[in-house]
Amino acid sequence: MNNKVFCNVCGRQLHMKNDILLEDAFEAKKQWGYFSKKDATLHSFVICEECYDEMIKQFIIPPEVTNVTEL
Ligand SMILES: [Zn+2]
Repeated sequence: MNNKVFCNVCGRQLHMKNDILLEDAFEAKKQWGYFSKKDATLHSFVICEECYDEMIKQFIIPPEVTNVTEL
């Protein structure tokens, strides 16, 4: 088990203490299916909050944001 987490965009190591992530990050996992050119592969990456903010600035339509009261 690799317990170091890096942002895939900027390469920065995310802050961890005793294997617990001390900052939140965007974690993506996508298993591509039959109609893609990446059939049957699982892609996953982590994006730190700063890089996430930069990424969504590029979006024409911003992400849907919903307030979550219970986690
Ligand atoms: Zn980053």
